Amino acid sequence: MSLHHAYDPDNIFAKILRGEIPSANVWEDEHVLAFMDVFPQSEGHVLVISKTSTAPSLLEIEPEALDRLTAAVQRTARAVEKALSPDGFQIMQLNGEAGGQTVFHLHFHIIPRWTDRPMKGHGHAPMADAAVLRALADRIAAALD
Ligand code: 5GP
Repeated sequence: MSLHHAYDPDNIFAKILRGEIPSANVWEDEHVLAFMDVFPQSEGHVLVISKTSTAPSLLEIEPEALDRLTAAVQRTARAVEKALSPDGFQIMQLNGEAGGQTVFHLHFHIIPRWTDRPMKGHGHAPMADAAVLRALADRIAAALD
């Protein structure tokens, strides 16, 4: 698949946005949605997406939507830090199949890291229990400013 391709309205995140499949949402407004990654690479792995842009990758997103998305990433990362007290965290954003991207609706990953806990590889993490994800989402949401 090329780095430049049409947006698929049936990608998994589009379905989450339409409420067609369940997700453990952390918070949302009219512009963005933050929700738990169902295959978390570490405890508290959150994804942040635009609700208004259909950009498959960073290359296509409109500047205003990107501003809102990056502000949402920072707001969510601050809440993750407050709720889970990681030693660090990674922001990951993959573009194109060759770049490791698997869902072609632009998204940022927030992956908390602890010095004594290894992170699972991208695409190698088991599916998390829905109740565990819901509880984590609630803890993070409670820490939002
Ligand atoms: P990418 O590989 O495109 O950077 O990231 C896609 C992310 O979406 C992966 O980390 C993967 O675990 C996550 N993911 C895939 N399917 C689902 C799903 O149905 N629900 C949620 N919440 N996350 C998903």
